[in-house]
Amino acid sequence: MVDISEVAENIYMIDNRLYSIPEFGSTYLLDEDRKALVDPGPATSASVVLDGIRQAGFRPEDIAYIIVTHIHLDHAGGAGVLLRDMPRARVVVHHRGARHLVDPSKLISSVIETQGEQAMVRNGPVVAIEESTVQSVFDGDTLKLGDGQVLSVIDAPGHVSHELCIFESRNRGVFVGDAVGNFVAGRGILVPITPPSSFDLELYVSTLQRLMKLDAAIIYFSHFGTSRRVKEELEMAAKELRDREAIVNEAASEDALDRAAERIIAHARRQLEPIREEMPSLYDYWADASIPMSAAGHMKYYRERHNA
Ligand SMILES: [Zn+2]
Repeated sequence: MVDISEVAENIYMIDNRLYSIPEFGSTYLLDEDRKALVDPGPATSASVVLDGIRQAGFRPEDIAYIIVTHIHLDHAGGAGVLLRDMPRARVVVHHRGARHLVDPSKLISSVIETQGEQAMVRNGPVVAIEESTVQSVFDGDTLKLGDGQVLSVIDAPGHVSHELCIFESRNRGVFVGDAVGNFVAGRGILVPITPPSSFDLELYVSTLQRLMKLDAAIIYFSHFGTSRRVKEELEMAAKELRDREAIVNEAASEDALDRAAERIIAHARRQLEPIREEMPSLYDYWADASIPMSAAGHMKYYRERHNA
């Protein structure tokens, strides 16, 4: 059985068992006249997503849109594989990411370069998508799924430059991809994801401020689940970024910039302590892979910014 539940009116969340880890990857299904999926996950999650859609009583062939918040493989890698079961679907993507769905070769080589060959085993094959199937979108674009449901595209750089958030009018909810961070409901955990080469602290913070102004009622995280404490979560994400920046500044003032990454890692791991025993596979992935990568991204940004 797939873990799928209605998290808001006409919106279902599927636990897509990202990298075989429970409660790590959320794929959302919007049940409207024109049905949409948000963040299908990697190819290795495709069968779970298909089973979840059927289990909830829907047909994959009725999906009209596969929307990806950004092209990172854990969000979008499975879109090409899923299209085989969703022949009428269009893939909606930030205009800056569109060409990498049509020709994923650069995307794949950059994943192998930064995360190693093993990352491609984890994510599964990336199937190229026909250009005519890709719908590239810009800030302010809208998609009408039916009466009472209009999606609005929000440019959301910071985690990466090609990220978008989607505001949905029916519940006043917002799909945030990786723009806010890794979330664990009920544990007070919200950890920013700041990968090397793309992370930009100022853009990340201005995206959080923009999301704040939406006055949304629900956040739909891609990692993982939902929250109706929108203001609190956004403030927590901003605070966490400031805390990390303070760690780096302090290290710099001690002439110990080389040790700043390990201090960020230690700080972030402490925040994950509440889930270490109960959610060991999630903890291990974050502690060993995600957080060190975020620390490296933060430091790269800092050094470039300060010529340090
Ligand atoms: Zn990402």
